[in-house]
Amino acid sequence: MSKITVVQAGRLLDGTGQAIDDATMVVRDGTIEAVGPRGSVAVPPDAERVDAGDMTVMPGLIDCHTHLGGASSPNYTTWVVEDDLRQAILSGQQMRALMEHGVTTIRDISRNGLRLKWAVNNGHMEGPRIVACGPGLSRTGGHGDAHNLPCDMIQRSHPWAMLADGPEELRKSVRLLNRMGADAVKIWATGGGMWDKELETDQHYDFEELCMVVREAAMVKIPVLAHAESLAAAKDCLRAGVATLEHGEELDDECRRMMVENGVIHVPTLQLFLGPWFDEYPPPPREGLENYRGDTMVEKEKNRVADNFTASRLAGVTIAVGSDSFSSIDVPYGASTLSEVHTMVETGMPESDAIVAATLNGAKALRVDHLTGSLEAGKAADFLVVDGDPLDDIRSLAQDRLRYVRRGEQLWLDELTPHRSPTR
Ligand SMILES: [Zn+2]
Repeated sequence: MSKITVVQAGRLLDGTGQAIDDATMVVRDGTIEAVGPRGSVAVPPDAERVDAGDMTVMPGLIDCHTHLGGASSPNYTTWVVEDDLRQAILSGQQMRALMEHGVTTIRDISRNGLRLKWAVNNGHMEGPRIVACGPGLSRTGGHGDAHNLPCDMIQRSHPWAMLADGPEELRKSVRLLNRMGADAVKIWATGGGMWDKELETDQHYDFEELCMVVREAAMVKIPVLAHAESLAAAKDCLRAGVATLEHGEELDDECRRMMVENGVIHVPTLQLFLGPWFDEYPPPPREGLENYRGDTMVEKEKNRVADNFTASRLAGVTIAVGSDSFSSIDVPYGASTLSEVHTMVETGMPESDAIVAATLNGAKALRVDHLTGSLEAGKAADFLVVDGDPLDDIRSLAQDRLRYVRRGEQLWLDELTPHRSPTR
């Protein structure tokens, strides 16, 4: 017998940018059957009722960039040498934190992400829909390496990276990832500023290497996501045919035009750059930085990154939310996803667009938009009830304002079911 739930809410944001006041949504066995203004949707008589009053119903959040590596420490060496089994356990806790913040779908770059996907898909654990990349590809001495440890230890035990150099090794590595069940391939096309000779502005794979990764992945119809923090690397990635640019904090008009024309999605991970991060990890000086507003180089760099994001947005590049959570200490899981949405709005993006970036655009980036990302008939009932109106105040999209969280048939939070009042 099918289970029917009728959701009634003051406001429903459908994830495509539309808002429906006084909305009704009918869910049958975890799938949305109908959505519309009250009265326009037939309500089956035997349905369970979820009354969200004047609160907001919206799709579950999609985080396009997580690392469920289970690292207990943000230390670059510790996260490789610590016990893999402990990390496996902690990765489940990191996934739980995402769930508690309303994240119902993720794209994850880590070894444990592949195992979590298996556990969730086989019903051993509750969890988000996981598009699993497995370990990302880093060059030797790149961002996914730990330069003070033996290389074979990285290959065995780095929580979210493996090393590969040159087209042939990259070909083999993509095939190994296929064998592990990867749904997408992550590459570090530039450095990321953790080690010597590993600056954000240093390109780490050349055009030929990038083309090999994209071509190999395309043979099994999986997309490539590229960490690209310099203009030259972003351009080579775009010419090679990557599907999404991660960070991409140095783009020009030609990049933006290629992104719009080819449907390449920008996952800017803004909160990393505009939060306290730079104060701790000073960025490399970029060309022309002195022309940006701000008193210090760090302020100027933050303004440069913000302007780069705004230029992407105004050029019509599709933007999606990614937190880059890799440690509960520096980039807490779930909280950073929400903070990314807030930061986008605080950088000038309209609230309605930020909600789409956190939902439907994420589903497009992950190529699961036929399954989730918006509240439309036929898609999974992945949705939240928020006590507030995120279109009016984006910060009402907060963990302590979540009243109901559902992923299809999994009900993660229900504070709407009326409690019996105590007898006096
Ligand atoms: Zn990352």
